[in-house]
Amino acid sequence: MKTNSTKFATKAIHAGQHPEETTGAVITPIFQTSTYSNSKLGESKGYDYGRTINPTRKALEENLAALENGKYGFCFSSGMGAIQCLITFFKPGDHILVTNNTYGGTYRLFEQIIKNYGIEFSYVDTSDIKETEAGIKENTKMIFIETPTNPMLRLTDLDALAKLAKSKNIYTCVDNTFMSPYFQNPLDFGIDVVTHSSTKYINGHSDVIGGCLITSNETLAERFKFFQNSIGAVPSPFDCWLVLRSTKTLAQRMKAHNENALAICEYLKDNPKIQKVFYPGLPSHPQHELAKKQMRGFSGIISIELGSYEQAQNFCNALEIFQIAESLGGVESLVCHPVSMTHGSIPKELREKIGLSDGLVRLSVGIEDQEDLIEAIKNALDKI
Ligand SMILES: *Cc1c(COP(=O)(O)O)cnc(C)c1O
Repeated sequence: MKTNSTKFATKAIHAGQHPEETTGAVITPIFQTSTYSNSKLGESKGYDYGRTINPTRKALEENLAALENGKYGFCFSSGMGAIQCLITFFKPGDHILVTNNTYGGTYRLFEQIIKNYGIEFSYVDTSDIKETEAGIKENTKMIFIETPTNPMLRLTDLDALAKLAKSKNIYTCVDNTFMSPYFQNPLDFGIDVVTHSSTKYINGHSDVIGGCLITSNETLAERFKFFQNSIGAVPSPFDCWLVLRSTKTLAQRMKAHNENALAICEYLKDNPKIQKVFYPGLPSHPQHELAKKQMRGFSGIISIELGSYEQAQNFCNALEIFQIAESLGGVESLVCHPVSMTHGSIPKELREKIGLSDGLVRLSVGIEDQEDLIEAIKNALDKI
C-alpha cells in the first residue's frame, strides 16, 4: 500500500493492495490456483495450499480489516459460513445471548444446527441494556447482536454493550451487515468481533455470496484462522476479486443509498396509507439520538407498515423499479415482504414479540435516481 491514510475512501481503494510483483499490475490479480510450487523441498514462498491461503483473498482480508479498524480479517464463502466459523470457537455447555430480532438464517443456524452440539442460545431485546444484563447466565460466553436489526431497525447501544460484556468477561460480536463499515465500526466501541454478509453492501452489486469476520483480538484471530482452514468454507479467488473491486466504491455507494433513503422517508412519513416508517435517520425513530452517536449515517434500509398482508402484497406487486427479491444492499432497489420471505423460519410468536407484522414491507433503497424511486413509490401507493 502506497499510503498510510486512515481515511475511509483512501483505505477502501488501497488497503491490502500492492502493485503485482511480476508486471506491476495495479489491480490485484485473480490468483486462480489451488496449490503453489516449492523451489526446493521445504522452501515455499509462504503459500502452500489454496484453502489455507490465497493472495487475492489475503488482499481482501487486509482490505476489510482496515475498513473496520481491525487487525485481522477472515473471508468466507457466505455470511453464514462466517457465523458458523465464529460459533466454532465455543464448546458444549457454553451459552450465547442473541438479539431477539436477528437475521432469519442466523436464527436457523443456531436453533436447528448448533444447538444440537450442546451450545445454548437465548434471545433478548438487546436494545434494552437491563434486559440484556438480566439475560446473562453463569455460562454465557458471547453476546451476538445486530444493530440496527432486520427488519425492525432497532438499535443496540454499542458502548454500553461492550462495557457490560467486558465487566463479565464475555465476548461480543456485531453483525454489521446493515451499516457496512462506512457508517459504523463496532470495534471502535470495544466490541470483539465484527461479522458481515459481504453479499450485501460490501459487495453491493448482487453478484457474489460472501462473508467475513474481523477482530483485533489475537486469541480469537488465531482460532478463526485455524477454523477457516479446517472447515474450509472459503471464497473463490474470483469472488474475492469481485468484492475487492466493490469496496473501492463503498464510500460513494453508501452515501448514495443514505441520501436516497432519507429522501424517500421524507416522502413517506406523512402519507396516510403508511401506518409507520422505520428508519434510524428519522427524528421520530425512538433511538435517533443513539443512531447519531454511534453511526455516521443511516444506510439504505427502510421498513414500512402497511396494515395488512393484503396491502403489503398489493404494494409490492404495484411497485415499479423495486424488484421483489430477498437480499439487500445492492445498487438496485429491492422490496421484500419479510414474513413470507426472509423471516419465514422465525416462529410466529417471536415475530409478534418483535413487532414483525404481516403488513410490514422492507425496502432496500438502491442508488438509482431519487426522483424515479419516489415516483415509483407514489404510483404504487396511489394504486392500493
Ligand atoms: C444476508 C445476511 C446474513 C447471511 O449472509 P449470506 O451471505 O446470505 O450467507 C447474515 N446476517 C445478515 C444481517 C444478513 O443480512
